[in-house]
Amino acid sequence: ATPTALMVGVARAAGLGVLVKGPEALEATRSVDTVVLDKTGTVTTGRMTVAAVISFSRASEQDVLRWAGAVESASEHPIATAIVTEAGDGLPAVARFEALVGAGARGEVDGAPVVVGTADLLTELGIEVPPRATEWLNDLGAATGVLVARNGVVAGGIAVRDTVRPSAAEAITRLHGLGLRTILLTGDGPVAARAVADEVGITDVIAKVRPTEKVEAIEALRARGRRVAMVGDGVNDSPALACADLGMAMARGSDVAAHAADVILVREDLHAVPDAIELANRTLATIR
Ligand code: ADP
Ligand code: MG
Repeated sequence: ATPTALMVGVARAAGLGVLVKGPEALEATRSVDTVVLDKTGTVTTGRMTVAAVISFSRASEQDVLRWAGAVESASEHPIATAIVTEAGDGLPAVARFEALVGAGARGEVDGAPVVVGTADLLTELGIEVPPRATEWLNDLGAATGVLVARNGVVAGGIAVRDTVRPSAAEAITRLHGLGLRTILLTGDGPVAARAVADEVGITDVIAKVRPTEKVEAIEALRARGRRVAMVGDGVNDSPALACADLGMAMARGSDVAAHAADVILVREDLHAVPDAIELANRTLATIR
């Protein structure tokens, strides 16, 4: 396509709420054959609420929530927001906060180390996960469970629930209609991932992946000759957005994700993905 045609395409895309960072991105949009979608904040709204708090120790559920809330008040993850909201006002301060991207967060609360995150994270940190906690995590269905450890001991767990974007199932159907393959890629566990994939009609699921493994998953697809678009919203998606043939970031997501992407989706609506691909097809085909 001529430079002018491409610029026209970029302008038209902007009219649809799809900010394309330059003509090359529009060309890339047209050639994509596989769309990989992050789960939390992309296929789902990312606005999570706490569904349950449980104690696996002598600590009260209130304490579990307070310790977790204190740590999470320094995190921008959707799970953190849900926990902080549920915990309410008057949380103790957190010291030495550290975000463990794609796994959890930790810090010191009232002088004691507190970790909030996946069972794998706790195990890696040398914290023993009791069978009761593992069973609880496995029985949550579509909800996501995180464990809360204090002083190296699992104190309890918090389950959070998210809702699928209302437009997601239709947008996925349109992508399949355009001949594209769809894959759900998530750091969350396989049970929650499968439940969301089934709800919106995504056939393939790659679950329980760390941010670096998200990159590996994209690279593996590209090595098999696929032309891959990655749609994501979080800091944890940024490396994958940057390494995909086309990175598409949700506008309400993290600035880091927006920076790593080729395309920014201004609307809180997954229809923007098939819209962008249809527009790239049309613009580049007619003016060529
Ligand atoms: P997704 O790929 O679905 O956006 P992430 O990669 O951000 O998910 O996180 C993967 C998992 O790591 C979450 O499902 C959660 O169990 C855990 N996790 C990540 N960040 C946090 C946090 N701040 N607090 C608690 N758990 C977290
Ligand atoms: Mg996300």
